Amino acid sequence: MLDPSSKRRLDSPPKSPDSGPADPETALNIPENESENDIGEMGGPSEERELVRGRWNDSARGVGRSHLRPGFSDELSPAPAIAPNGVEWFSVPGWEEIPWLWHGFSTRCGGVTRAYCAEQAPGELNLGFTAEDDRANVIRNRQLLAEAITGDSATPLVTVRQIHSSVLVCEGPPIMDPAGVPGEWPPHKGDGLMTSQPGLLLGIQTADCIPVLVADRRRKAVAAFHAGWRGTVRRIVENGIGRMRLEFGSQPEDLVAAIGPGVAQCCYAVGEEVHSEFESQFTYASELFREVDSSDPVRTRYPIMFLTQRAPGHSSLGSGLHLDLIEANRRQLLDAGLQPRAIQVVGACTNCHPELFFSHRGSRGRCGRMMSVIGIRQHGL
Ligand SMILES: [Zn+2]
Repeated sequence: MLDPSSKRRLDSPPKSPDSGPADPETALNIPENESENDIGEMGGPSEERELVRGRWNDSARGVGRSHLRPGFSDELSPAPAIAPNGVEWFSVPGWEEIPWLWHGFSTRCGGVTRAYCAEQAPGELNLGFTAEDDRANVIRNRQLLAEAITGDSATPLVTVRQIHSSVLVCEGPPIMDPAGVPGEWPPHKGDGLMTSQPGLLLGIQTADCIPVLVADRRRKAVAAFHAGWRGTVRRIVENGIGRMRLEFGSQPEDLVAAIGPGVAQCCYAVGEEVHSEFESQFTYASELFREVDSSDPVRTRYPIMFLTQRAPGHSSLGSGLHLDLIEANRRQLLDAGLQPRAIQVVGACTNCHPELFFSHRGSRGRCGRMMSVIGIRQHGL
């Protein structure tokens, strides 16, 4: 387990993820707020966890993981960095050797949002325009993230309205917001962004879905992808690398990629329909799923926790299929021609670490958003 005291500058009370009910009607009406629907819409064992004194009860937290090889270990590697402005974020080991590259995966730590934490807790870094948070807070948080990554809070941030598609948006000229708010105009729909334009950050929002960042070391181009299960089935990452070849002449051997924090196989129970979709698309689909054993001792001991975990029509009680979205996206990077050593997995399972990440599943849809950003320095070396 992560020891929070080892990474914080200041002692702070543990954060308590809000477990209030989701408000799907509101969420659907808000641009950029649809990104986690495909992760959160199906019940999973972890949804019935007990919250004890602001932290997840350990006995409950282990539910559904006993027989699984998690996509991440419980230890965070690397530890998150803490920027002078308080923003905690992950960088990719080795990427600091690419002098022209900006990049980072945010956490929930830092920022000014009060909507998802306990009253006495410090503010949080919600980077999505969610129904519960003030717009001004999100704009401020985005500036703080830009400052943490680039040193300049005014660095333009380009985002998309994420729609669980394989639609890719390629940025040519710099995107400038006439109202002075970076990256909010014009709105784009899609789940992948790429550019060779220096001086801006591309941002993908997640709260369980898988963010993937890619950089072309030779051609100096960058990309960011949003991969929930639907986007993964539609090969957003594989198609995205293909588009980089077209747009920038990228060669796979020059690409490096990082898969950021998302819900790992330990916590990602899915319905049979998801399994069928993957089976229809990928020859290696069977390698991406694990059946959780119904003889799990935790299930036997706490049967009540499993009675309500699945919506009608989903798999039978007592067992479940768990999908490894991280491995699925790693396979797409490999199929696109990247070398295994060029692909890194950074962070940890969002559902297992509520003190560090927003999790759509872990909070039943009422949560903030993290952001994964990548860009090219204005005055690259
Ligand atoms: Zn997990």
